[in-house]
Amino acid sequence: MPRHLASKIRIHGPAVRRSSKNTTNRLQRDDQKFVWHPFTQMEEWMQESPIIIERGDGRHLIDTEGNRYYDGVSSLWVNIHGHRTAALDQALRTQLEKIAHSTLLGLGNVPSIELARQLIKISPLGLQKVFYSDNGSTAMEIAMKLAFQYWQQQGRQFRRKRKFISFDMAYHGDSLGTVSLSGISLFHKTYKPLLFRTFKADPPYCYRCPLQLRHPTCYLACLHPIESTLREHHQSIAALVIEPMIQGVGGMITSPKGYLRAIRELCTRYNVLLIADEVATGFGRTGKMFACEHESVTPDFMAVSKGLTGGYMPLAATLTTQEIYDGFLGAYDDFKTFFHGHSYTGNPLGCAVALANLKLFRRTKLLQILPQKVRTFEVALRALKSLAHVGQVRQIGLMAGIELIQNKKTKQPYPLEDRIGHRIAMETRGQGLIIRPSGNILILMPPLTATHNELQVMVDIVKSAIQSVTRFQC
Ligand SMILES: *Cc1c(COP(=O)(O)O)cnc(C)c1O
Repeated sequence: MPRHLASKIRIHGPAVRRSSKNTTNRLQRDDQKFVWHPFTQMEEWMQESPIIIERGDGRHLIDTEGNRYYDGVSSLWVNIHGHRTAALDQALRTQLEKIAHSTLLGLGNVPSIELARQLIKISPLGLQKVFYSDNGSTAMEIAMKLAFQYWQQQGRQFRRKRKFISFDMAYHGDSLGTVSLSGISLFHKTYKPLLFRTFKADPPYCYRCPLQLRHPTCYLACLHPIESTLREHHQSIAALVIEPMIQGVGGMITSPKGYLRAIRELCTRYNVLLIADEVATGFGRTGKMFACEHESVTPDFMAVSKGLTGGYMPLAATLTTQEIYDGFLGAYDDFKTFFHGHSYTGNPLGCAVALANLKLFRRTKLLQILPQKVRTFEVALRALKSLAHVGQVRQIGLMAGIELIQNKKTKQPYPLEDRIGHRIAMETRGQGLIIRPSGNILILMPPLTATHNELQVMVDIVKSAIQSVTRFQC
């Protein structure tokens, strides 16, 4: 952390054993010498003295110097119950006493079976089968490949169904298939020659409505172009891909009431499969177990990952229906097999801790107590709306996006090179909060066990950081 901020760190809770200053310096040097960080301009990284996390404790991260920070984005949206949650720690130990890993190619393993059963039990009605992988990108690749192959195996009249509809500003991962589906040009334009093309739909970005209408009097007019595309091209479209209720990385764009439901109905009407990317939204983040539940939608595929293990282990799953599954059945030499798998598919450690995660949801009645926390969060966030450089605050559950703007009247955005989000995120560190923005959108996504007070404190820190960074601007 920049030295001038270090003195401002608030130390919360009891002191912890800390590494010596020398150790921190050595780790920082070696990090800069050997580690290439994701989504990071390493030249810039080399100028900083990075925070090195050594421990976690509930909603806190603790660095090698013993400084405590609120984990304001749940360690990139994965953590659910907090760090060092006893039941999750224990589940991993217990599984370790048995076996760390065995393959699902040709063998079953105990926790992967139990977990699949549990996932089906809590998922939208109609999802019946679980295909495991390791991360959100692979879960989405699998959904895409399954949707594609399904139609190829449905007979001649469906062979042309090979394309996808996805949303502008969507984010579905960093593998080439998921990058093709995504719509964030800053990340993806370099790879364009390697990507396949999709039909791109405009997201329901009401704050900057491309049709210049207002919800609800617009009657979701933004669905019309999507319907036109479906009407015209459904014979060549395999699936529509959506981040249900909120597009995350690409701007924390929440969808208006009725939107997801209407998308489901359009897909059904035009015989196009619906792939719901619940990688970010799954496991309570939006206030319900899955975002699709907000509008009683069952997708044909649901990809989950981030919160699946409570933020403990890399694990993912693609859930689908009996109908899709049946489309892959046949004699071996029909070659309808889904030829896909990973070294760590169905990893027992990951599955064991995911099972403990679900058990903890039940034991703590987390989903029942969540609405009150969501309410506290919402009320706290209201205080940001009046700030001169906050255009809109968008929130669902414990996911919030704060759109920073240069000029409130004209909605003029900050130029990306101003790095306004990044500067504010650096400022919050000095006040004991770690967040990571996406461009001009500040993101706050605390672990679901954050207390009412902690939610308020995190929002207060964000507010004061916005004020101090934007103070001298008009
Ligand atoms: C994070 C994310 C992914 C990608 O998951 P990884 O585990 O990072 O590969 C896909 N979709 C959404 C909506 C995400 O938020």
